[in-house]
Amino acid sequence: MAKSEFIPVIGLEVHAQLLTRSKAFCGCPTNYGADPNRHTCPVCLGLPGVLPVLNREMVDMALRLALALGAQVRPVSQFARKNYFYPDLPKGYQISQFDRPLAEGGAVEFDCDGAALRVGLLRLHLEEDAGKSFHDGGHSLVDFNRCGVPLVEIVSEPEIESPAQARAYLTELRRLLQYLEVCSGNMEEGALRCDANVSLRDPATGRMGTPTEMKNMNSFRGVQRALEYEIERQSEVLRSGGAVVRQTLLWDEAAGEARPMRRKELAHDYRYFPEPDLVLLEVDPAWMAGARDRLPELPRARERRFQEQYGIQQQQAQTLCADRALADYYEVAAAASGNPVLAANVILAEVQRWLKDHDTGIGRYPVDPERLGGLLQLLDRGTLSTPLAREVLQEMLAGVETAEQIVARRGLAVMGDEAVLGSLVRQVVEANPEEVARYRAGKRQLFGFFMGELMKATRGKGDPVKLRELLQKALEG
Ligand code: ADP
Ligand code: MG
Ligand code: ZN
Repeated sequence: MAKSEFIPVIGLEVHAQLLTRSKAFCGCPTNYGADPNRHTCPVCLGLPGVLPVLNREMVDMALRLALALGAQVRPVSQFARKNYFYPDLPKGYQISQFDRPLAEGGAVEFDCDGAALRVGLLRLHLEEDAGKSFHDGGHSLVDFNRCGVPLVEIVSEPEIESPAQARAYLTELRRLLQYLEVCSGNMEEGALRCDANVSLRDPATGRMGTPTEMKNMNSFRGVQRALEYEIERQSEVLRSGGAVVRQTLLWDEAAGEARPMRRKELAHDYRYFPEPDLVLLEVDPAWMAGARDRLPELPRARERRFQEQYGIQQQQAQTLCADRALADYYEVAAAASGNPVLAANVILAEVQRWLKDHDTGIGRYPVDPERLGGLLQLLDRGTLSTPLAREVLQEMLAGVETAEQIVARRGLAVMGDEAVLGSLVRQVVEANPEEVARYRAGKRQLFGFFMGELMKATRGKGDPVKLRELLQKALEG
């Protein structure tokens, strides 16, 4: 792809479904995957004469998000009707917020390619989701289960400068939503959706370009690809002397291209007006303070604490904190093991590998963090060598025994007798004269080869610390 001479200007609108038990304005359940049209009632179907009742849990969740993002919460906000006609919107309008949103300002702070970035927010508002249409074989079907599911919309300033930054912004926002336990973050299920606005600025004149809006991306990678595509397309248009048309485009992931969907609608197209069936939403200081108290430690703060408290590397802290459950697991295992650095190393290698192989999350890992901590203690003390610890872990994965029980039952305690180990070291050195010569000539990596031979000779039971010492002496001598 040719490098664009223009500077991309990107703003994201993110819709997140809030994990409330019931819908925004009625008592219908919100869980995903029910049979079509089961979770409906006269309110969310918009039948005549019904009245909406605001879900307090919805406001509370959005409030926590606003506070975590450093946004200013309005003491009084207002719901508004956004009018449009579509088969999945039975009322003919969506209850949303317009000129008095729940919160404004704040920012998403995130890292991208090693740089710490901060993208400001325009607004954060509450609204209800629409239903879902299915088009197939000349028929269209509609499922109203999603109708009235609570959403929070987070609208960024146009301050994102590349598709990679857009992806990093979304990754951080999703992590925050998950830490706060207000959204599942599942893009495939549509629990998190993103519209991307992009325009190109001409660096020579400083002039801002006309933005287009893209919809229908269902992964972070999709958002990045769609933006790359659209930046290239707009660049072509501008290079050939044309003008970008303000429009909404639909991203087609399979084709890897975006297609025009409609002329971009503007605010006046929606004939917004204050929702007459709901009173103003007042968030008093006590509610705010309560919501603030219920904020968990936020992921970026947790990353910093992990590095300071446990002495692990930044990259390790980032990987552990990418998932709140994994970070929780790590903290328990670190405490139980007595060696937080060892715990990080083992979790990021052995445990992560298992999770990847089984395509699952830490919640499904068969060894709980206390039990893993017990194994790590034995490893840390030198009771088990690394290969032996791996073997014990395999047994732990298959059963419920602790590491100590397995070691006792199988008589796996380490071989620590210096005379026995010393003679094994001599045997291995004598059996490999060429390697010894190369080692002495400077090929220090061969140390690992000798250790490997010794572990084979001791069937993984040799005390690694003692073996290392003896081997060093024998090779140097
Ligand atoms: P609308 O209501 O028409 O969708 P908004 O002003 O609410 O427009 O902005 C929607 C999104 O578009 C925001 O995320 C904003 O950052 C982004 N945006 C606004 N202007 C531009 C622009 N020139 N280029 C790219 N994105 C833009
Ligand atoms: Mg928009
Ligand atoms: Zn309902």
